[in-house]
Amino acid sequence: MKQELAERQTSLLARRDDVVYWIVPSGAKVRHGITDKPGRWPAGTEVSALCGQGVKIPLPTPLPAVPKSTSITAQCDGCLEEYRLRGSPSTVWDF
Ligand SMILES: [Zn+2]
Repeated sequence: MKQELAERQTSLLARRDDVVYWIVPSGAKVRHGITDKPGRWPAGTEVSALCGQGVKIPLPTPLPAVPKSTSITAQCDGCLEEYRLRGSPSTVWDF
């Protein structure tokens, strides 16, 4: 049930352009916020996070494995600051 709700929310968010996705980039220990939709770029592509740092899209986790990043909840301070200023909706995303 909870999963279903999360999926519905994700599909609603997918229609908006201002959504902040909290991702754990390649090699990162914290979540950075990006506005590029997950799936837009292949793994390894560098995108700009809200904090201005260039971060790399991580490799997708093959099913049925759970992405290692799932347990990471710490957020980048710079991204968090910018996110609060924007007031955009956000969602946590693991690849
Ligand atoms: Zn950041």
